[in-house]
Amino acid sequence: MDPFLLASWARSRGTLHGWRRRRVAWALDVTDPGRPVLVAQDWTRPVPYTRRSSAVAPRPAVDNAAYVAGRHRGAWGEMMRTATEGSSHPAATALMSALGAGALEAVGITGTVPAGDLIAVRAHGQWLHEDPVLIDAWDAHLAASLASAETDVCLCCGDTGRLARIVPAALAPTVFGQRGAGDLVLYPTPRTDKGRSAAARTGAGRTASLMCVGCAMDVAAALTDLAEDPAHHYCIPESGSLLLWWDPSGKPSLPLRDLLVRNDPDPAPLYRKGGRLCAMMLSAASPGRLTMNAFWNEPVSIMAQRIRQWRSATAIPAGENVRNYGLPLLHHQLGRWDRRAKTIVPRPFQRLRERELWIAVLSGLPPRQHSLAAKEAIRRDGQELLGRQALVRAGHPPG
Ligand SMILES: [Zn+2]
Repeated sequence: MDPFLLASWARSRGTLHGWRRRRVAWALDVTDPGRPVLVAQDWTRPVPYTRRSSAVAPRPAVDNAAYVAGRHRGAWGEMMRTATEGSSHPAATALMSALGAGALEAVGITGTVPAGDLIAVRAHGQWLHEDPVLIDAWDAHLAASLASAETDVCLCCGDTGRLARIVPAALAPTVFGQRGAGDLVLYPTPRTDKGRSAAARTGAGRTASLMCVGCAMDVAAALTDLAEDPAHHYCIPESGSLLLWWDPSGKPSLPLRDLLVRNDPDPAPLYRKGGRLCAMMLSAASPGRLTMNAFWNEPVSIMAQRIRQWRSATAIPAGENVRNYGLPLLHHQLGRWDRRAKTIVPRPFQRLRERELWIAVLSGLPPRQHSLAAKEAIRRDGQELLGRQALVRAGHPPG
C-alpha cells in the first residue's frame, strides 16, 4: 500500500486529523464573561475531537461537562490558555475573562449537562472552535504528541523530517460490525532498511513509523473520514471486515457498494469516467489491531470493467431483480436450507468468508472457492437457488 494515496485524498478534501463530525448538544455563551449561559443545541459538524484513553486529555473549545466545569476543569483551562494565546477572537478573550473570574462554576453545567454531551463555546454569535489561532494550536499540539525522536526520509512524501511514533488512525469496532469500546489501530509496518543501528534492528530502537508527522496525521484523517462516510465504505459484519474506497484526487469515486451489494446502477456509463480508484479491505485482527487483507490502485475504467465482467459471469437471468445478486446475498445462499422454515440458515463453521468474495470480484478473479461451495450446497440440500447457480457460473467463466 502506498500511504500517499490516502494522504492526498485527505488533503484534497481538507480533512484534518483531530477533527470529527460530532453532535454538539450545548452552547456555553460567554458574550457576557461575568454571566455565561448554557443554551441547548442540536447540530453535527466537524469539531476538535480525538478519542481519549484513560488519561486526562482536554480538547479545545468543544468538550464535555467534566472538562469545561467538572473535575478536569483545571486541565481544560490550561489547554484553553495555550490554545488561544495571541488570539483576538471575541470568544477567546471572553472565555479567558470568564475562566479568570471563576464564572463557569456558577452556570450549573455539572448538574445540567449529561456526562456524554458536548459543549461548544461561543461569544457574539461566533464559535471558538472556528478561531484560526486555536485551529493552528490544536494541530501543533497533536503533532507534538505524535513526534518520535527519529528524523528520517518519509515513506509517504519523500521529504526528510521528524517521523511519527504511530499512524493515529483509530477506528471504532462498530465500523467492523463488532461490539465493544476502544479503538482499533492500524499499526505501521516494521522498518526493514539496512542502514539502521543494531539497536533498531533488534527492535529495541523501533520507536517510529515510516511516515513524517504531517503525513501520519493526513493518513489517519483519511482512514477515519472514509470509515465514517457511507459513500466510501462498506461494512461486512460476517467477516469483521471493512472495505474502504476513494479517488486519490478527491473526486467522487465509483459507488462500489451500490454496484456490488444492490447490483445497481448500470455500470456501463462508469467506463467513461476518468481517474483512479483505490480500495482497501481491512479486518479486525488481534485485540485492538487492524489487518489489511487487500489493496487496489487501478484506473476507474479497469475496476468498472471487472464489475461488468462479474455481472456477465454471474449471468443474471433477464427480468430477474438484480438486487437478488448482491454479494452479501450470494454468500448467504451458501448456507443450509431449512425445509420447514423454507429459509437459509447460516452455517457457523463455514470457513469461506464474504470478504474473500469481494476480494475475488474486485481483483477480477473467478471466485473458485465460492463456486465449489455453491455446488456442495446444492448437492447437500437439493436447492438450486439462483444465487448458488450464479456462483457456480462465476467460478467457471467460459473461455
Ligand atoms: Zn511525509
